[in-house]
Amino acid sequence: MTIFEKIAKREIPAKIIWEDDDAIAFHDVNPQAPVHVLIVPKKVIPRLSDAKESDRAILGKLLLVARDLAKKLGVEQSGYRVVINSGPNAGESVPHLHVHLLGKRALAWPPG
Ligand code: AMP
Repeated sequence: MTIFEKIAKREIPAKIIWEDDDAIAFHDVNPQAPVHVLIVPKKVIPRLSDAKESDRAILGKLLLVARDLAKKLGVEQSGYRVVINSGPNAGESVPHLHVHLLGKRALAWPPG
């Protein structure tokens, strides 16, 4: 089981801020910005490269949840960044697809 599956099953603690049957969102344990939330599908897709056509709906949903949480967390107007790290060069560390939502500070571009 991935660490994010364990969070969804309440086997390890996390600051969960939203959940439905398909996905869960919680604060990142090592935040890189004042707002740093992870939005995770309950179905385990290891990384974006492994997503299938049949995952189209959940992939779209993750972005709409990011939009809604950005509003809820007060960064809709100031701006925010949505990130998916896929594979070693991107710094992926948990092999369970997740969307990072980062905000409440100015974010440099290009990323490191
Ligand atoms: P990535 O590097 O894109 O795979 O992102 C994995 C993220 O998961 C990192 O930002 C970690 O800080 C975060 N993370 C790892 N373990 C936990 C946990 N138990 N609770 C919350 N966030 C976690």
